[in-house]
Amino acid sequence: MARAAVQRRLTWLPARLVATSAESPRVHRLVFDVPGWSGHLPGQHVDVRLTAEDGYTAERSYSLASPPEVGELHLLVERLEDGEVSSYLTGELSPGDLIELRGPIGGYFVWSAAADQDDRDTGRRPVQLVAGGAGVSPFTAMLDHHRRRESPTPMQLLYSTRDESEILARGLLGPETTITLTRDVPVGWAGETGRVDAAMLLRCTVKPGDSPRIFVCGPTAFAESTATALVDLGHEPTSIRIERFGESKEPS
Ligand SMILES: Cc1cc2nc3c(=O)[nH]c(=O)nc-3n(C[C@H](O)[C@H](O)[C@H](O)COP(=O)(O)OP(=O)(O)OC[C@H]3O[C@@H](n4cnc5c(N)ncnc54)[C@H](O)[C@@H]3O)c2cc1C
Repeated sequence: MARAAVQRRLTWLPARLVATSAESPRVHRLVFDVPGWSGHLPGQHVDVRLTAEDGYTAERSYSLASPPEVGELHLLVERLEDGEVSSYLTGELSPGDLIELRGPIGGYFVWSAAADQDDRDTGRRPVQLVAGGAGVSPFTAMLDHHRRRESPTPMQLLYSTRDESEILARGLLGPETTITLTRDVPVGWAGETGRVDAAMLLRCTVKPGDSPRIFVCGPTAFAESTATALVDLGHEPTSIRIERFGESKEPS
C-alpha cells in the first residue's frame, strides 16, 4: 500500500494549463487540470518537467498555491528574466498546452487542519508564517485551507514584498497578515516598511513564550537570515521549518 502510494506520487502526470493570469508584474498564477492527481496537503510542492522537441528536459519545483479542497492546481511562478523554466511558464505556455508534473512532494513543510485536530498538544500551538516574495505561495494554500476548514488554530502571516504592486493573493489576505514593503512605499501606507529583521519579527510575530510552529519560505538568503533571527529571539530551532526557493542575484 505504502509502496503504491510512493509510486503514484513519483509518476509524471500530464497537466493541462486551463488559465493563466498576471498576479503581479512579475508573478503569474497558472491553473492546471491534472487528471489522476492524488491530492495534497497545504505546503507541499510539485516538480514540473518541460520537454523540448529535441528531447531536452528541464525540471523545477513549485509550491502548490491552492488548498486540497480546490480541484485544479494553482502555481504562483515568478518570472526571472534569465530563468529557463520560469520565463517559459510565464511567457510562452498558453491555455490548452500540456506539461508534466509529479507530486505531491514534501511531508515536512506542511500544515493541515486535520493534523491539528488529531494531535491536540501540537494543534494548540499557534502557527506563524513568514514569507519573502513568491515564498508566500505555499502559505496561500495554508491560509485558504485554514479558512475553508474553519480551523481554530491561530495563524498569522508576516509577508515581505518589494512594493504594493507585487502583493500576491490579495483577495486571500486578511487581518492575520502583516505586510512589509521593502522598496517603494506609497503615501498613507499603514503596514510595515523595510526588510524583515529581529526587531520586526519581535513586533509582528508570535512570541517565543507562546511556542509557535513557524514556517519560513522565500529566496534562500531571506529564509536563512529570518530563521537565524528567530533563533536569536529565543524560538526553538526545532519549531522552525524552512523552504528555500533558491539563490537570488538581487535582494527582495
Ligand atoms: C521546494 C521549492 C519550491 C519552489 N516554489 C516556487 C514557487 O512557488 N514559485 C516560484 O516562482 N519559484 C519557486 N521555486 C523556485 C523554482 O524551483 C525555480 O528555481 C525558479 O523558478 C527559477 O527557475 P528558472 O529555470 O526560471 O531559473 P534558472 O534558469 O534555474 O536560473 C536563472 C537565474 O536565476 C537565479 N535564481 C534561481 N532561482 C531563483 C529564485 N528562486 N529567486 C531568484 N533568483 C533565482 C539563478 O541563480 C540564475 O542566475 C521553488 C523552489 C523549491 C526548491
